[in-house]
Amino acid sequence: MGMSVLLHRLMDTFFALYKGMGFVWDDVDVPSGYSEVQQHEVGLETRFSRRVGLNIPFTSAAMDTITEFRMAVEIAKLGGLGVIHRGLLPEKQADHVARVKFALNGFIPRPICAFPDETLEGLWNRREEKGYPFHSFPVLDRANGKLAGLLTGNDFDFYSLKRSSVFVREAMTPLDELVTAPVGTSLHKAYEIMVKAKRKILPLVNQEGFLYGIFVFSDVLRIISRSSLIYNTDSNGQLRVGAAIGVGEDAMIRVPLLVKQNVDVVVIDTAHGDTGIMQQTVRWIKEKYPEVDVVAGNVSNGDSARRLVEAGADGIKVGQGPGSICVSRDLTGVGTAQLTAVYECEKAVRGMDDVTIIADGGISAPRHGFLALCAGADCVMAGRIFAGTTETPGPIYQKGDRHVKRYRGMGSASAMKEFAASRERYGQSKMLKVIPEGVDVYVPFVGEVRYQLDPYLGSIRLGASQIGAKNITEIHAKALFTRATEGAMKEAKPHDVVVDERITEILPVQGDDSSWEDESLRIVEGPVLPSMLH
Ligand code: IMP
Repeated sequence: MGMSVLLHRLMDTFFALYKGMGFVWDDVDVPSGYSEVQQHEVGLETRFSRRVGLNIPFTSAAMDTITEFRMAVEIAKLGGLGVIHRGLLPEKQADHVARVKFALNGFIPRPICAFPDETLEGLWNRREEKGYPFHSFPVLDRANGKLAGLLTGNDFDFYSLKRSSVFVREAMTPLDELVTAPVGTSLHKAYEIMVKAKRKILPLVNQEGFLYGIFVFSDVLRIISRSSLIYNTDSNGQLRVGAAIGVGEDAMIRVPLLVKQNVDVVVIDTAHGDTGIMQQTVRWIKEKYPEVDVVAGNVSNGDSARRLVEAGADGIKVGQGPGSICVSRDLTGVGTAQLTAVYECEKAVRGMDDVTIIADGGISAPRHGFLALCAGADCVMAGRIFAGTTETPGPIYQKGDRHVKRYRGMGSASAMKEFAASRERYGQSKMLKVIPEGVDVYVPFVGEVRYQLDPYLGSIRLGASQIGAKNITEIHAKALFTRATEGAMKEAKPHDVVVDERITEILPVQGDDSSWEDESLRIVEGPVLPSMLH
């Protein structure tokens, strides 16, 4: 739990009274109390793990229908953190991490380029066809591959009446009139150069004249002016991101690749985390890569959480059964109702060196997020509330008169069929027949993710102000529950999804990361060469 070492919480009295019972969000209310805190004064800063901060207590789940780089970028911009799922092959997953890390630094490592012998009209048509939102193109010499000039929006404007007859080489600013900078130029240095030279694009070239990327002034300015204070960034000003890994060999393969791309935190992602191999994996990572935080899970009782902290985990992910797409607890009866699980785990690790509690799953109404914090969570992880947004992987389908997107459990039949990682997550790698632990459904398409969180953040601000808490640490200290209604059985079943529209047939999957292939901006380690273009 939070930075302050609270050894006794008001909440302890409530749970002591109901020892042995499992409560869910809907079983409790939070009594209001004296307050001098207004909603706008409530601070939402918290942590995902020991050293990984958050500006809002929300993180997106490591699921193939929720978090790839696009979601991770948006969530980090909103102040949270996305955990890239492990259905992706290790190299690909590391690429997604790299793309999040590159998203903000105003530097475009592989810009779309033009050639001197294209006409302006040809280039313009290509721009329209591909939907590029920008007007500036570095120009590469077709023969030797080196930077030859730069074409900007002005050039298109000035030649707008004769674009069909003018070639790029005539309209561009040629190399000898360009301002360029060496490879490795920092964001701040780039800003200085651009302001001084009054240039909006700054190409970086190596000594031989090959292009390595460009800085774009508007991006650089936005970052430097810190108009984006809510962005969740690391000490280099890059967006924070996490990645899910398995235990044992899977961790050994993925962690080095992820660390190379500066991942902030790895999340050892299993359906049951209280195992020997989990502890060994935590120890191995902490010993070999002490610079990266490790979150372990999932667990749902205090002793399990304590064992993981003793093995070295920096954060504990709590949740066995509460997920909206989850049928695990319904299937076996094993697990603990989520509100109680969060409390029990928090209590067990209280005071243990700033380790965090992440409440994973079952958040489907705004009050759930606030209640999770009251129970002792530092932050929540969610899939359902992000499902169906523009930023999730996968296409938008038309179903009757509705637009929908797919949302499925990583333990659903189709995900287990597709990903070895899913079978392993649910401990079913060695089974002849897999038993689905999740459902596969359509959810309504709801547009951009940034609109989804407002009610959730509003609920925390309002709730906190009504109990007189001005930040999450004070929520932990001041929150108390009273017993409300029965609800545990309801939580253990799929809920908040349209179950009569379960996907029974497995659609031919294009590959969950097909959008990635279309991307123009792949991370490259060498120069941009003509052969890589188009
Ligand atoms: P939600 O926010 O209620 O939709 O829950 C998301 C969480 O459910 C994830 O972060 C996982 O911990 C968990 N989860 C994902 N897939 C499955 C599954 O197939 N079965 C059980 N739990 C799952």
